[in-house]
Amino acid sequence: MAAYLLSEAGRNVVVLEGADRIGGRIHSVRNGDGQHLADLGPTWVWPPYQPVVARWLERLNIKSFAQFNDGPAIIEGFGGGPRRQPLPGQHGMVRLEGGPQMLVDQLQSRIPDGAVQLNNRVTRVEALGDSLQVGLDDASEITARRVVLATPLRATQARVEIPGLGRDMSVLMKSMSTWMAVQAKATVLYESPFWRKAGLAGRIASQTGPMVEVHDHSPEDANYGALFGFVGWPPDLRMSEPEALRAAVLEQLVRIFGAAAENPLQIRIEDWAENDLICSPQDLAEVPQHPEPGPELLRQPHLDGRLWFAVSETSELSTGLIEGALHAGQSTAQKILASGQ
Ligand SMILES: Cc1cc2nc3c(=O)[nH]c(=O)nc-3n(C[C@H](O)[C@H](O)[C@H](O)COP(=O)(O)OP(=O)(O)OC[C@H]3O[C@@H](n4cnc5c(N)ncnc54)[C@H](O)[C@@H]3O)c2cc1C
Repeated sequence: MAAYLLSEAGRNVVVLEGADRIGGRIHSVRNGDGQHLADLGPTWVWPPYQPVVARWLERLNIKSFAQFNDGPAIIEGFGGGPRRQPLPGQHGMVRLEGGPQMLVDQLQSRIPDGAVQLNNRVTRVEALGDSLQVGLDDASEITARRVVLATPLRATQARVEIPGLGRDMSVLMKSMSTWMAVQAKATVLYESPFWRKAGLAGRIASQTGPMVEVHDHSPEDANYGALFGFVGWPPDLRMSEPEALRAAVLEQLVRIFGAAAENPLQIRIEDWAENDLICSPQDLAEVPQHPEPGPELLRQPHLDGRLWFAVSETSELSTGLIEGALHAGQSTAQKILASGQ
């Protein structure tokens, strides 16, 4: 977002992405024909309550549709075996046609070709005269007048050297947990959303696991079926027993939905805790908490007004969510432009 708005205002921008794909926690998977299959990261936005999201969905012409929640959920644990129970949906919660990756694609298509460099991890940001020097992990360097770090605060604090960054900011960065950084998400695809024929929402709330919360994740036209679930196993167990986890995910779906769940087209488990560009040792060491809006220092420039931070966790609006990410990028670009830089 910041790169797009700065580029639109005539600034030369370069986006240095450490991973082999752009999007970060937003990760929608597509098939070979470009059809959206599932979201490995975020799924929902809440446009009635998220003005920045609402505005950009309209500007980028991205359509939304309601999260399917017709029929009861299945509850297991909480003092009993699997049983039906209606669970309310959330007002205003929608999915995006093509997945949240559409936001990333649409913004990327509006910045110059070649501005995005993948597999280019920033390791150092340092003052150099009236510019900043950015060190990359292949030992190359880039000089820029301004730098926006739109990277998780804790991972940045742990892995990017920033000489001259005040101690207050460093301590603050370490204290800001990265939303969902230690989460694993399972997505399971079927030929059809068979649970709907049984009158079920496809939703599960479970104390038994391994998925503690499951939702229908089928496309709007339901031309195939999909479920996603948040995995309750701790990161060390997930990482040491990936095959056991896949088997347990399938076992849980068969236990709940019966033999119709036995033959998925695909099971994919995305473990965000394994991604060191997102998840830091501090995130792994703590019980995850939804980030609260942090102090103004997060939204102020550093290194004599040349370095800005603009990841979702810096936002005072919907901190840690997509809305926060869009807002952080937008307001940072506006502040840079307003300062005449
Ligand atoms: C499983 C899951 C479910 C979620 N569900 C929802 C949801 O339903 N709704 C919602 O609103 N939000 C949800 N979220 C949160 C949402 O995904 C994030 O708030 C949002 O995507 C953050 O975007 P961002 O661009 O600010 O940061 P990020 O997506 O974290 O992007 C940071 C980028 O910086 C790169 N990077 C990091 N370090 C470096 C470095 N040193 N050098 C170069 N590049 C680097 C990373 O590779 C990444 O691409 C979910 C997240 C997860 C993981």
